[in-house]
Amino acid sequence: MKENRIAIIGGGASGMIAALIASEKNNCKILLIEKNHVLGRKILSTGAGKCNLSNQNISPCNYNSNARAFLKKVFSKTKPEEILDFLKDTGLWLENDADGRIFPRCMNAQEVVDALSLRLQKPNVEIHKLTEVVEIIKRKNGFTVKTQTVKPKWDNPTTRLSRLKAGLKKTDGAYSAASGWWDKTSFKPKIETFDCEKLILACGGKSYPQIGGGDWGYKLARSLNLKIRSLSCAIVPLIIGEKWPRDLSGIRCNVLLSAFADNKKIAETSGEILFTDYGISGPAALEASRDIVQGLKKGKVECRINFLPEFSLKQTETLLKARLKKMVVLNEKKADSFLKGIFEDKVSRIILDKAGIKKETPLSKAKSDFIENLIEAITAFNFEISSAKSFENAMVTSGGVELSQINPETFEVKGHKDIYIVGELLDIDGNSGGYNLHFAWTSGFLAGKNIAL
Ligand SMILES: Cc1cc2nc3c(=O)[nH]c(=O)nc-3n(C[C@H](O)[C@H](O)[C@H](O)COP(=O)(O)OP(=O)(O)OC[C@H]3O[C@@H](n4cnc5c(N)ncnc54)[C@H](O)[C@@H]3O)c2cc1C
Repeated sequence: MKENRIAIIGGGASGMIAALIASEKNNCKILLIEKNHVLGRKILSTGAGKCNLSNQNISPCNYNSNARAFLKKVFSKTKPEEILDFLKDTGLWLENDADGRIFPRCMNAQEVVDALSLRLQKPNVEIHKLTEVVEIIKRKNGFTVKTQTVKPKWDNPTTRLSRLKAGLKKTDGAYSAASGWWDKTSFKPKIETFDCEKLILACGGKSYPQIGGGDWGYKLARSLNLKIRSLSCAIVPLIIGEKWPRDLSGIRCNVLLSAFADNKKIAETSGEILFTDYGISGPAALEASRDIVQGLKKGKVECRINFLPEFSLKQTETLLKARLKKMVVLNEKKADSFLKGIFEDKVSRIILDKAGIKKETPLSKAKSDFIENLIEAITAFNFEISSAKSFENAMVTSGGVELSQINPETFEVKGHKDIYIVGELLDIDGNSGGYNLHFAWTSGFLAGKNIAL
């Protein structure tokens, strides 16, 4: 049987699964090239280290709108259960939380990476870590991949602890690929070339360059004359120009968050937001961020927070009016005590400020519009989003290789036989909740299956 040499560029979620699937065919010789010192570095950071690897409610509507028709075809070709079964076959036990998010039972991303890495230890899989692909040269029957070794960035192994962990002595000076240890003074990149018949680009997106994100994949796609839809941040914290978020920094609230551009609602999410020094983060804010970033490209975006989403306006009014009546009877003194027990003190203060209510106002002298103003501030607390954080803080890249150029059943590039593109490099970004990893697994799975034919 003819040998099928396949080079996979990027050992993240999509690249690892593509390598695993393709390597099941014995005639396939896989070369997995990863610039980090470990495989699956980004996976380790997902779900705050717990790895929210999929969701029970996978459907195209959980992704950017222009990807939905493409994804309909993808998910009809590979059902979510098939991916979950594959992950279970690697030895992972999975469980889901009340919101349908799926995690490994051990709640540890390292176990996911280890399970996949262990299965990749096969005679027909060759893994090159700390190796960056710098050029791809098209030959008559295949490709030549040019690589150079790189220094690890985030794990500074020159520290004493890392030296000890790596079992190295101070006198061990030179670069060691096995331990990933390097010495600034003696490091010299090694250039190599590899020939292959087929290629999978699994380089990921631009986000989180600290752990492997970058634009090399886009550069390569452009060199193949492929169109790229402009890149922007998704699942990204949002910046508010005003000072008040600083006073709430560290506080989490369950809210309904709505965003408006040009007086039209562009996003609405519910759940937890986290106030930070610069603005808002947390699941509900991150979820809304893709649409907010798009809105900011065109102009102003105003947000409104409903701090009591569990009640209707009428219910809120009834509850607050009854409360005021009771507090006045009990001779509770000032406005600043009115919201005690409903919100944290700092949140109450910000709400009173927004309502234009002076904290020292005696409740017995509350004006007729006291409740009205308070309801407005509690249920439609408005502010402008000035910008979003950059790619360093964006969990996902929106935009990428345009989907019209990709076959949704195989992930092969149309008009470029034997080149496949998978994962976040494509113009697909999902909501927060395991959708991005699910797409990375699915695209790697389909490409791995088809490239091995
Ligand atoms: C902090 C954080 C938390 C997240 N949490 C979640 C979550 O809970 N659930 C979820 O579904 N998604 C989450 N995501 C998103 C998810 O991690 C990504 O969408 C997913 O990893 C994309 O997979 P990929 O294979 O396309 O890219 P990656 O996993 O990024 O892998 C690409 C790999 O290619 C390597 N590479 C790039 N260029 C080269 C080159 N020239 N040569 C060699 N190697 C190269 C990179 O080093 C990288 O390891 C999170 C992302 C971040 C940053």
